[in-house]
Amino acid sequence: MKNYIKLKDIQADIQAGEVTCRALVEYYLKNIAEKNGKLNAFLQVFDQEALAKADEIDQKFRQGTAGKLAGMVVGIKDLLCYKGHVSSAGSKILEGFESQFTATAVQRLLEADAIIIGSQNCDEFGMGSTNENSAYGACLNAAGENRVAGGSSGGSAVAVQADMCLASLGTDTGGSVRMPAGFCGLVGLKPTYTRVSRWGLIAYASSFDCIGPITKSVEDAALLLEVIAGADTQDSTVSNEPVPAYAAFAPLAQSPKYRIGYLKEAVESTGLQAEVKAATVAKLAWLEAQGHTVEAVDFPLIKYFLPTYYILTTAEASSNLSRFDGVKYGYRTAQASDLITMYKKTRAEGFGKEVRRRIMLGTFVLSASYYDAYYTKAQKVRRLIKDYTDQLLQKYDFLVCPTTPTTAYKMGEKTEDPIQMYLGDLFTVQANVVGLPAISVPNGLDNDGMPIGFQVMAGAFQEEALLAFAHSLHP
Ligand code: GLN
Repeated sequence: MKNYIKLKDIQADIQAGEVTCRALVEYYLKNIAEKNGKLNAFLQVFDQEALAKADEIDQKFRQGTAGKLAGMVVGIKDLLCYKGHVSSAGSKILEGFESQFTATAVQRLLEADAIIIGSQNCDEFGMGSTNENSAYGACLNAAGENRVAGGSSGGSAVAVQADMCLASLGTDTGGSVRMPAGFCGLVGLKPTYTRVSRWGLIAYASSFDCIGPITKSVEDAALLLEVIAGADTQDSTVSNEPVPAYAAFAPLAQSPKYRIGYLKEAVESTGLQAEVKAATVAKLAWLEAQGHTVEAVDFPLIKYFLPTYYILTTAEASSNLSRFDGVKYGYRTAQASDLITMYKKTRAEGFGKEVRRRIMLGTFVLSASYYDAYYTKAQKVRRLIKDYTDQLLQKYDFLVCPTTPTTAYKMGEKTEDPIQMYLGDLFTVQANVVGLPAISVPNGLDNDGMPIGFQVMAGAFQEEALLAFAHSLHP
């Protein structure tokens, strides 16, 4: 099988009779059979279903009725509902839980003739940066021995990286699409908040959560966004903004010259791995050589990114996760004689350590005595960060920085110290705190051959320009 990077090439080969959807699905299933035992990217594989769908789409190709994503074999993060399939959010508390309905984004993939091959490993409820917080075991990065995949959409990234599917749908609350994409040498897009319906996305922090694609090419990320974005009657927070043809890029030679600001504090930070810094500086120089204006911008509020993010997301999580009580769905303890003990034991046994930590933190910041000191204050700081970011984006088309301060960690390197783990999210959380779109594109390798990511953030609903620019960085 050819090493396909983008859907366009697959579709051309199907049209030319050189490959079929069935052959593609068989190829990916073979890779899953060979590699998943070690990498643990997929939690469920829908093999028979994917093969049947492949035959159906092959038929459509012959009839000339194939949809926009025909020929694309996709995996979905275990946090997305798919009717009749298990969606466990990487958690024991939802072990074996069968979705009653399908997430809008997943439904739209199906309607566009994508083939869904399975559900993918992730940190429990999306809480984590390495995929080590999954109740179903960690997912391994295919680029290096004993390296983490990144999180929380680790399985979604590794599945694409190891050629077990062409693309994945992940979710990004504070970097969970971009970070594993960066760690695995892929493209990861977090759209503007409200660009994509959250219906059927198991909630972690509702005012941050976004569904986004992980792909090998910017073109496929754009195509997927075209399909999944747009108004939805099931989610009243979704924007009615029309969805442009994101993947219709102008020829690279006609790329406009942009004004680009790089976050000085991020690029000059002493915490940055030397090779990440060198790759970022080199990219900035390259951008300048392409005729773009590149300037350093100060972002003194950078030290508040993580506290703001972790106060508000844990608060929202403590509320969202209160529904897992052993009554409505999922796991229930076997040993309780009264209701209160049942709640307590179910939650203590069903949730992993990090999720319990966040529920407690979130409950604390929302408690009557500390609400104003933490929750209200963090909301105010969120506004300040947003205003300042918007102000910068009046002056610049894009804000850029490395996706993460370092490349993928060794397994277990950060698990004992949550603060160290949270620090890895420093550059990704801003986009979620302010609700803006951001993308991670590959930017070379470190000395151990581990991928480095470069992040670009744009103004609200500027995905068209963002994707076109990202395409010029990673054509
Ligand atoms: N690592 C971040 C967290 O643990 C981001 C997670 C995400 O985007 N779902 O909250």
